Amino acid sequence: MSEAATGRLGAFDATDAPSMDGLRACVHCGICLPQCPTYRVLGEEMDSPRGRLYLMRAAAEGRTGLTPTLAHHLDLCLGCRACETACPSGVPFGQLLEATRGQLERRGIRAPETDRATLDFALNLFPNPGRLGSLLGMLRLYQWSGMQAVVRGLGLLTPFKKLHAMEALLPPLPRAPAPLPELTLARGRRRGRAGLLLGCVQRYFYPGVNADTVRLLSAAGWEVVVPREQPCCGALHLHAGRLDDFRGMARRFMAAFGDDVDLVVANAAGCGSALKAYGHWLREPEAEAFSATVRDVSEVLVDSELPLGELRETVTYHDACHLAHGQKVRSQPRELLKRIPGLVLVELGDSDLCCGSAGVYNLLEPDIAQELARRKVERIRETGARIVATGNPGCLMQIAQQCRAEGFAVEVVHPVSLLARALREP
Ligand code: SF4
Ligand code: SF4
Repeated sequence: MSEAATGRLGAFDATDAPSMDGLRACVHCGICLPQCPTYRVLGEEMDSPRGRLYLMRAAAEGRTGLTPTLAHHLDLCLGCRACETACPSGVPFGQLLEATRGQLERRGIRAPETDRATLDFALNLFPNPGRLGSLLGMLRLYQWSGMQAVVRGLGLLTPFKKLHAMEALLPPLPRAPAPLPELTLARGRRRGRAGLLLGCVQRYFYPGVNADTVRLLSAAGWEVVVPREQPCCGALHLHAGRLDDFRGMARRFMAAFGDDVDLVVANAAGCGSALKAYGHWLREPEAEAFSATVRDVSEVLVDSELPLGELRETVTYHDACHLAHGQKVRSQPRELLKRIPGLVLVELGDSDLCCGSAGVYNLLEPDIAQELARRKVERIRETGARIVATGNPGCLMQIAQQCRAEGFAVEVVHPVSLLARALREP
């Protein structure tokens, strides 16, 4: 039987195989190479988009198998999708990467270099609010008892690279916030009903961002619904190629939101990008309809007139990859920040180059991640800004930890936090 008849594509089987048209769209021009963070750091063709596409296509054409070497080069990819933005041929790199990772995962083909234990730990932790809540309780105790100051001061974790990388990311933890109201009414003219995604990291590490988002949406005329039982959206599982787990999580997430909202609003770039991909990966009309309702918070607020007072600050903006490259949302957050009277927005060099966070990449590949964070902070210093704004909790943590490590006093915040500071409510 021919490959076309079986649905097989060379070394790939028919289940979620990467698109041959997508792979063939690459004309090897190399325009994407200078935009690729791993190519910039490692300087290796096989750690560039073109090299990775070459490997995927060779597997699809049966010239090579799905090997641990191929898995290794894909594991080193941040999944930032900067190559997609740069590519003049429209290569859908993100989908090809996720499909190939899906095949590798399902068949247990793994790179020996990859730290599976840390990846499995993260993938099991985030979808489980009970485990995440218990861990958070312990981390609060660690931080508030003064133990963290001792551990950091004496560098006790420095010999343990991964543990050190994880600990260094920990932002100052707030007290457990009161749950947000399940329903917040719109102020002024009602524009519709928006459901808010709380996000696993956002809700526990930056709960103020969610509270600010509700305030702003309400001031912009949106009635805000916050479903209490919100499962994880599955973004980490999608990027890791755990596609069946991802689809299960997506279905549970959609069920939690029901169908009585006009929009689903995300303030975490990685989560928003995953929600917008439900239609592609589930291939069901309900999922396509759901994805069509998803917006980043900046896409919603930019169409409203918020009453903003003065905020005399110099701010720079870092483009989170899954906002700029994954969702093509670039102008809206900048436009909103520029509307704040007194705020001066200074453009950041390489603003859309990954900071190294990339889901749990900074835990799996701390050396590359730290080098990217170092370069990011170098660019931030050049702006002279006192505040860095960015629309993803992973980027907030990653940039803040590098600034702390360098003793560089800059505030790292979500753009909605600045808008909420400037909001003048009646
Ligand atoms: S997704 Fe990012 S890291 Fe991966 S190949 Fe593309 S530009 Fe490079
Ligand atoms: S992915 Fe696009 S930009 Fe990169 S080499 Fe292929 S065609 Fe050129």
